[in-house]
Amino acid sequence: MHCASCASIIERSLKNTKGVFSAEVNYGTETAKVAMDPSMTSHEHLSKSIEPLGYSLSAQTHEDHSMHTGADQSKHEKQMELGKLYRKVVSVLPLAILSIFAMAWDLLSQFNIVATPPMIVDRALTYLLPICAAYALFFVGRPYLVGVYRFLRFGRANMDTLIGIGTSVAFIYSIIVTVFAGTLRPYIEVENVYFDVVTVVIAFITLGKYLEMRSKIKTGDAIEKLLNLQAKTALIIRDGKEKEVPIAEVVEGDVLIVKPASKIPVDGVIIEGLSYIDEAMVTGEPVPVKKSKNDTVVAGTINTTGAFTMRATKVGSETLLSRIVKMVEEAQGSKAPIQALADKISAVFVPIVLILSVISLGLWLIIGTQYFGFSQSLSFGLVSFVGILVIACPCALGLATPTAIIVGVGKGAREGILVKDAATLEKLHKVTVVVLDKTGTLTRGKPELVTVRPYDNMPIARFLSILASLEQKSEHPIADTITDYAKAHNIVTRKVSRFEIIKGKGIKGTIGNNGYYAGNVKLMADLGLKADLKAIADETIKGKTPVILATKGKIIGTVMVADALKPESADAVKQLHRLGVKVVMLTGDNQNTADYIASQVGIDKTVAEALPQEKIKVIKDYQAKKEIVSMLGDGINDAPALAQADVGIAMSTGTDVAIESAGITLLHGDISKLVKAIRLSKMTMRGIKQNLFWAFIYNIIGIPLAGGAFYPLFGWLLNPVFAGMAMAFSSVSVVGNSLRIKLKKL
Ligand code: ADP
Ligand code: MG
Repeated sequence: MHCASCASIIERSLKNTKGVFSAEVNYGTETAKVAMDPSMTSHEHLSKSIEPLGYSLSAQTHEDHSMHTGADQSKHEKQMELGKLYRKVVSVLPLAILSIFAMAWDLLSQFNIVATPPMIVDRALTYLLPICAAYALFFVGRPYLVGVYRFLRFGRANMDTLIGIGTSVAFIYSIIVTVFAGTLRPYIEVENVYFDVVTVVIAFITLGKYLEMRSKIKTGDAIEKLLNLQAKTALIIRDGKEKEVPIAEVVEGDVLIVKPASKIPVDGVIIEGLSYIDEAMVTGEPVPVKKSKNDTVVAGTINTTGAFTMRATKVGSETLLSRIVKMVEEAQGSKAPIQALADKISAVFVPIVLILSVISLGLWLIIGTQYFGFSQSLSFGLVSFVGILVIACPCALGLATPTAIIVGVGKGAREGILVKDAATLEKLHKVTVVVLDKTGTLTRGKPELVTVRPYDNMPIARFLSILASLEQKSEHPIADTITDYAKAHNIVTRKVSRFEIIKGKGIKGTIGNNGYYAGNVKLMADLGLKADLKAIADETIKGKTPVILATKGKIIGTVMVADALKPESADAVKQLHRLGVKVVMLTGDNQNTADYIASQVGIDKTVAEALPQEKIKVIKDYQAKKEIVSMLGDGINDAPALAQADVGIAMSTGTDVAIESAGITLLHGDISKLVKAIRLSKMTMRGIKQNLFWAFIYNIIGIPLAGGAFYPLFGWLLNPVFAGMAMAFSSVSVVGNSLRIKLKKL
């Protein structure tokens, strides 16, 4: 797609097709996303409907096993297109330089700065310049002529049409004046021809397009980098033999061999062997982790020294890496709400500009003639007509948002910040309140067992055996701590029946014939049991969490666990404050423990002892106060709260990543990443606003300047050559500004 207004024109055309519910066309990624009723329309039909606009749809290869060939393919096409443009630029630039040279000589000699060109040079130029212009217009400028043809034939105009009309009018006028010089001489100044303008304008615009396209390809290289993580082949065992096959041929259940220093080809489970695997891609952990039988491995991570056999569990588009690539691709192709304005403007821009250029020509002829005479006014009028058409193209306007989004989303992906869509990235910079889960977010999420205190002289081993048996069935971090402790102390566990989770409070289950409960003070209160509150409170104010074990009407003991703070928590909270956001901690843990942690890291407000459904309410309350709330949680048991928040951010520390659940997923989970995500959002939005400002200001000033509105006042009339130059460099500078985001530190 080579013109920004095309995106909105194509979008409108698709939307107006019968059977289409919604359509979104993105100039940055050159893709269309369409929701349609396949019984009423089809891919071919849609493609036909946009043909008058000079476009067609090329189907993206579907999610077969060969992953994302779509991206590779269009990248290849873009490279070819870039090569073509390059050849055009190289062929037309020397002609443009010659034209500028002639123009400059002519101008300077008029002011007696240099001597007039010798007769022979003048003669040569008279023939050379039209030839250059013809080459520029008919060969290099073909797309613009096609734009004119489509305008005449179908009444559909885009930016190509503007440039096409501008340059061909200049060309035709110049030809007529040259050919009929004798007849026309008494009426107009036949020396005023514009062949040089045609050549230079087309050369500059083509150069601009080339540079724009080159940078545009660069904005999207984050995906390419992700794709490079993917192994190309896999060593598979079939019929007892080792065989190297393309990655696309691996199916679920295949047994694969992974050799030292190679990439893990697909997601799977180790069935034999042991190795250290570099999982920095998903965990951010630079030290390779030891993996052996029954451990899961992730496609795209790197095996270091050992060798092992694995069974493929997820292949093709199902692997985590594929899902990450897909998410990045979709986010880059999605539209930020801020773009709506630019879209609306560029959609009506082209017809308005056409009308403006004609009005400007008319005004020069009617009013100008009274002051400057017909001949001079005609020449002014033509210059402003061509100038307006050339400078008014909303190219930069169309590039402003998508290029910044592509770069922002890509930069995020490289930092382990996966953004679901542009709207989320946009919203994040407005966040005023961040709600954090305590366990696993501010704290390590791996508590340590600090005291074990059975009541009534019960042997510690028996007490722990009961508790560990129950906790074995729970997935809470506290449960892991207790079972690990029991294992380390060789405590035998027993079978538990009728196990149940009591949300936000604890667990219960039956061992033998006895029913047991394990949980917090609230749970004991529910059971009507009086815990030794004083002793417990003494511990909780020091940040410890009690787990109380009870059976048949009595408490049989307590253990205390303590979850240490993550080292970066305090600093991250400080940085959030610096960014002007309020930090709220939300936890199911008891008030004392929560307060202790809060005071350690400088949290503004704590909500403790919150049941899961209350967590949603806390967020709703803030939203009712017109705050924009972001919630950061582990994504699994906090899912409802994440969904309620304006921006739900899921944190993942392991290889088991649920990336679809939240607006943003932080891959290498720690809260300093949240700070980076907010900075990224601010950075991207600032880039977009700068881009939009430059794009707008340039058109707002450019059009009247080219139209000659300032001529009566200051004698300013923009030469179309400069219009072409400005137009080329405006889009290049917008893309360049977006690329700058890539270099900035987060
Ligand atoms: P959070 O994730 O903030 O800890 P939860 O709702 O998961 O919130 O848990 C709330 C509280 O319930 C915990 O702080 C703990 O006191 C108690 N609890 C939950 N699950 C267990 C368990 N398996 N064993 C003991 N206590 C538990
Ligand atoms: Mg939790």
